[in-house]
Amino acid sequence: MAKSVNVAIIGSGVVGSAFINQLNNLKTAIKYNVVYLAKTSTEALYSKTYQPVNLATYQTEAPQPTLSLPDLVTFLKGASRPTILVDNTSSAAIADYYPTFIKEGISIATPNKKAFSSDLKVWNEIFSNSEAPNGGLVYHEATVGAGLPIIGPLRDLVTTGDKVEKIEGIFSGTLSYIFNEFSTTEKSDVKFSDVVKVAKKLGYTEPDPRDDLNGLDVARKVTILARISGFEVESPTSFPVESLIPKELENIESAAEFLEKLPNYDGDIQKIKDEAFAEKKTLRFVGKVDFKENKVSVEIGKYDFDHPFSSLKGSDNVVSIKTERYPNPLIIQGAGAGSEVTAHGVLADTLKIAERI
Ligand code: NAD
Repeated sequence: MAKSVNVAIIGSGVVGSAFINQLNNLKTAIKYNVVYLAKTSTEALYSKTYQPVNLATYQTEAPQPTLSLPDLVTFLKGASRPTILVDNTSSAAIADYYPTFIKEGISIATPNKKAFSSDLKVWNEIFSNSEAPNGGLVYHEATVGAGLPIIGPLRDLVTTGDKVEKIEGIFSGTLSYIFNEFSTTEKSDVKFSDVVKVAKKLGYTEPDPRDDLNGLDVARKVTILARISGFEVESPTSFPVESLIPKELENIESAAEFLEKLPNYDGDIQKIKDEAFAEKKTLRFVGKVDFKENKVSVEIGKYDFDHPFSSLKGSDNVVSIKTERYPNPLIIQGAGAGSEVTAHGVLADTLKIAERI
């Protein structure tokens, strides 16, 4: 008989709906029974007898209230098959519950960064519970660089004995776009505030662009890569993170007022750009893990015109991983956001777990 596993999906937003669609069109030997699907934080589809949810019609089916997290554990443990929980939300409450799910033998595939980039205590709990007998497995490739293969290859290098020397990368699609447009290898007078406004208009930024410009999202991703490489980062606020928000505009209430006042500060960043240009360098917003300097940081970096970071296009992500085995760094580049690429990263993790449980 073909192997089959149970799947519980939480979230059906941008990534969640693409994930459901990809899973519904999957052709593999393993059978995936979706026994629980929380469409939102209040509406879910499931049945007491674990009948699979129909992924072709889930949008129109009448939902029930979602189960609380403890009740969800009980429900999933009551089934006869092993279960993979797919968390396609950015919920901190669900992330905080990962150690319990894993301890109870439920595996997790997720693009949600929260659990892996909060306190080190949570990270240690997740992975020690996972390594315990009967612990669930945890895969989170899409937490850094969306569907790009970064976490898997980095883990493979580290677990086989390679030593990371330096990781450097552009991990925000939004800030990639902003700097690729702002600082080019050709002379340009484009203003920083104008690029931010265009990025917002194109839907690349968060509703309040300060949520991108504060660097915290990049800091979370760097925290994850640093920890995998063996750097015990306490939290994403425990190392220097350069914010692109002028100090005076940090406490302004509305995003609209922030954007209106941002042009007043164009001169400061323009000066840094002009100085870099004179040295034949571009500016890029990068996250770094540097073992030689014993330093983790998020900052504006300067890169020679012929460096791979200088020729980045659109909103691509790129990461350069220098190790003992790869003194010429391993470079991974491509789309670092988007529903289909992110969903494929989560689904590929789901398939890996299914093969291993
Ligand atoms: P989204 O806001 O479109 O979707 C999130 C969904 O989760 C919403 O439908 C919301 O109703 C649901 N939700 C929230 N709390 C819930 C709960 N308690 N129970 C059930 N459902 C709940 O966001 P998204 O863009 O799909 O992102 C999902 C995750 O993927 C996030 O963690 C995000 O950081 C990550 N991610 C997204 C991208 C991307 O390109 N969109 C790339 C990489 C990683």
